[in-house]
Amino acid sequence: MVYFNRNNSELFCEDISLAAIARSVGTPAYIYSAGSIRANIGLFAKAFSAVPNTICFSIKSNSNLSVLRLVAQCGAGADIVSGGELFRALKAGLDPKKICYSGVGKTADEIRFALRSGILMINVESQAELELIAALARESGTVAPVALRINPDIDAHTHEFTTTAKKENKFGITLELAVNLYKQARDDDFLDPIGLDVHLGSPILTLDPYARAFDVCAKLIGELRALNIAIKVLDIGGGFGIRYNDETPFTPEQFAGLAVPFVKSLNCALIIEPGRFIVGNAGVLLTSITYCKQTPHGKLFYICDAGMNDLIRPPLYGSYHGIEPVILPAGGRRLVADVVGPICESSDFFAKDRSLPECKAGDVLAVMSAGAYGFSMSGNYNSRPRAVEVLVDGGNFSVIRKRETYEDLIRGE
Ligand SMILES: *Cc1c(COP(=O)(O)O)cnc(C)c1O
Repeated sequence: MVYFNRNNSELFCEDISLAAIARSVGTPAYIYSAGSIRANIGLFAKAFSAVPNTICFSIKSNSNLSVLRLVAQCGAGADIVSGGELFRALKAGLDPKKICYSGVGKTADEIRFALRSGILMINVESQAELELIAALARESGTVAPVALRINPDIDAHTHEFTTTAKKENKFGITLELAVNLYKQARDDDFLDPIGLDVHLGSPILTLDPYARAFDVCAKLIGELRALNIAIKVLDIGGGFGIRYNDETPFTPEQFAGLAVPFVKSLNCALIIEPGRFIVGNAGVLLTSITYCKQTPHGKLFYICDAGMNDLIRPPLYGSYHGIEPVILPAGGRRLVADVVGPICESSDFFAKDRSLPECKAGDVLAVMSAGAYGFSMSGNYNSRPRAVEVLVDGGNFSVIRKRETYEDLIRGE
């Protein structure tokens, strides 16, 4: 099922017209489809039903509490990368036993918070971190369940900013060092090395980097078991690509076709950490055109009321997002335009030289595939209040985060 669909000239999210939502809550506005989020989690749940598994939604992709509640209702857990994300996860009612904690720079306070909360495991990224976790676990009289995040030196062919498993990246532990650290963890009364973790980067469009990662993990798990280190959980990370433009990503079933035999032969539980795949195509950013600006040099700019503070992916990664008027203008003429924001930076754009239906000031555009790394990466640059967030479920919609006010901007100053 497609959750964003055109009915005659009007674009709908599930059963609700996006133009109607824009009239009701204003723009810029992030709109998410609950049905789409449920369906995407369901695809993974179905694909992996043959093996013990936990779907740990990567909270950094979209951390709105209502979205997290929905994820919890679907039986999924969370992959977190900060104390703030742990706070959100617990507030939303996510089961701590389904939470794993990644990231290269966990502070002592964050580690204490994780230990206190009884999460499933901490994914450790360095020797210094492992030793700090051991010391803090000892201090609090607990045993810390850990996985080591290895760096298998695999190129996942993503943007250089979002590849994470090459040897020059800051993430993970080299294979040689990992064996020694696992032994250190095995011999420490306050560490329980239950897992092995790897995350290759994002978005990944082919299965072969994962196949290579599974090979590396299978070999390492064998080595570790021979050393009396019983790895029970294999966390293969996230990064599953989605269709932004004309990509043809693999499906959860195809991924499971690769993963399930490995997991069965290794006799362990599987964790996957999808973020983008769950929410990316479940959300759009609505923005109104404030001005149409035609330069004497023949350039047309649609200047919108959303900017790079609302959605930074195009300037940050050169990302493509589809752009569609929520109501198709009559006439059918198309023009080539740059779709830009109001911010005082030339990097403030959503699309360049894009062929679009001819629009006029006041028209509402939907920036598609904006559910992941959209609002969660947004900020207040140029003292711009952040956008309202809306969740659509069938024929209903509700505001799940109010638009910020000017007063919100100066809180705490
Ligand atoms: C960002 C991240 C993910 C999620 O990546 P997606 O592309 O959103 O699936 C998963 N695991 C870790 C460790 C991450 O940093």
